[in-house]
Amino acid sequence: MDTPTDVLHRVFGYDSFRAGQQEIIDHVVGGGDALVLMPTGGGKSLCYQIPALVRRGVGVVISPLIALMQDQVDALRALGVRAGFLNSTQDFDERQLVESEFLAGELDLLYLAPERLRVEATQRLLAKGEISVFAIDEAHCVSQWGHDFRPDYLELSRLHELWPDVPRIALTATATPATHEEISARLGLQQARHFVASFDRPNIHYRIAPKNEPKRQLLEFLRTEHAGESGIVYCLSRSSVEKIAEFLVDNGIAAVPYHAGLDARTRALHQARFLREDGLVVVATIAFGMGIDKPDVRFVAHLDLPKSVEGYYQETGRAGRDGLPATAWMAYGLHDVVQHRRMALEGDEAHRRRQVLHLDAMLALCETVGCRRVLLLDYFGQKGSQSCGNCDTCQAPPESWDGTIPAQKVLSTVFRLAKERRQKFGVGQVVDILLGKKTAKVLQHGHETLKVFGVGADLGNAEWHGVVRQLLAQGLLAVESDHGTLVLTEESSAVLRGQREVPLRRDALRPARVKTASGSKSAQAVVELPPEAAPLFERLRSWRGSVAKEQGVPAYVIFHDATLREIATLRPASLAELSGVNGVGENKLAKYGEQVLETLRTDDDTPTLL
Ligand code: ADP
Ligand code: ZN
Repeated sequence: MDTPTDVLHRVFGYDSFRAGQQEIIDHVVGGGDALVLMPTGGGKSLCYQIPALVRRGVGVVISPLIALMQDQVDALRALGVRAGFLNSTQDFDERQLVESEFLAGELDLLYLAPERLRVEATQRLLAKGEISVFAIDEAHCVSQWGHDFRPDYLELSRLHELWPDVPRIALTATATPATHEEISARLGLQQARHFVASFDRPNIHYRIAPKNEPKRQLLEFLRTEHAGESGIVYCLSRSSVEKIAEFLVDNGIAAVPYHAGLDARTRALHQARFLREDGLVVVATIAFGMGIDKPDVRFVAHLDLPKSVEGYYQETGRAGRDGLPATAWMAYGLHDVVQHRRMALEGDEAHRRRQVLHLDAMLALCETVGCRRVLLLDYFGQKGSQSCGNCDTCQAPPESWDGTIPAQKVLSTVFRLAKERRQKFGVGQVVDILLGKKTAKVLQHGHETLKVFGVGADLGNAEWHGVVRQLLAQGLLAVESDHGTLVLTEESSAVLRGQREVPLRRDALRPARVKTASGSKSAQAVVELPPEAAPLFERLRSWRGSVAKEQGVPAYVIFHDATLREIATLRPASLAELSGVNGVGENKLAKYGEQVLETLRTDDDTPTLL
């Protein structure tokens, strides 16, 4: 019998396990139940795929991601693993074929949509075969309070009654302590061993930039740091998704929109293009990305503030699953705070309270002068991490300054408008008053006669916006109603009376671009591509592209970028040397080895043509 390490080398072509994998795999191979919490890109799939290959019988994987099953099965088949799936997209004949393979013991892994399990016939089918392990992927779908509840998941607690001897492994990347509890209880995994991996994703560079001209900033970010690379741009509304996608296309960047308002066919097409093409940008609402295991997403950009840190971390986690450097970039400004504070006024009391907690955590992340990663990990229960050296605040620590006096000026303007004039205004008018601008609106309301008129000439327009944004973020000022009018909060008075200081973060107006991950410790494990290997890497990529196209599978199913980089750098001269490259297993060596060596030789003959 193969050991897990044998399978890792032979089938997957990897040198070593990632943190946590071996322990989990050994436990499940030994017949134990497991609950696994690991971040996106941490390497959860191997934790059930290897036990399925090592143990006798078929591994049954329950997954809600029907649209991705075909790709998952294709990727396994490319490795020589006998995989199949059963879901509602198949016709009778297709299902029959998979069922007979299952019964004949010709499958290693069977992917199953959760609703299939409720069907009597499926249960009968499974009872006739031999099952090695049940894997419950995206296990947070069993949580009713989470963001992704699927009623069919509740049924999964019955697996244990029906197959008491088959080990179960449940996996998720969404894991605040509350969700963790709920998964454990609902799936009956209290007796199982719980594996909680570090939630850190060190290869992702985190950066939050002050928003001034978002479109221009996005374009500059894409052009200077991620030209020709795949990534996701998240926006809050459908209309901004459409607009930004169009803007990018107008500026020569291959981009497609994705949101719930598009018809199902267009959505499926855009998703398939994202998976299959190199260097496509998807501009999307949060409806996009769950379960997509494209390894070479090089950046995730947010043009609007996400609603929660959970959501933000899951979205940014889609970058850099292959472990190569990737960027999570966000543009964030005053308008975001006003809009979110306003949205948090909607709904019933309990809902509002939850919204405010989520928003405060998100704002704290945006406004921090400390390491972003420390704050993120702390949020997921990993206390006391070291500063990471791979986020914007670590690389260019923002100054903090005493903003007490400017804060008093803003608050007293809002106070006087309310008290002396019985009026409420938005940010624009308040800042104009502070700056002493005699605009039509100022004159119309006689605001030039207020005592605070012109007291803020020491700061500029953008700086005042920064002050107001941070006051809102800190809860020292509030927005009221749909018009975004400003009002004082209970905490405002302490500032006005001089009983409380207001430390503020100094925004760089045009922030110098900070170094990306390539120089940081996290990226050192990665094979750097020496400049002289770049043409060969491109040649290998284009070979890969044509093979992928021929087979109708995503390029990464053939080889990951990381594998091609290593090949381009090492230039193996024989099949034996090639087999030592990470990501080249037995099956792929046999299938593509000669073609890769041929591509390398062609390069030797014609170096100058590149
Ligand atoms: P998750 O499901 O946790 O998001 P995946 O299982 O998709 O993560 O793994 C993320 C990426 O890491 C995949 O591209 C996978 O091939 C790769 N990977 C997983 N384990 C290893 C390993 N031990 N060595 C090298 N690459 C690995
Ligand atoms: Zn940091």
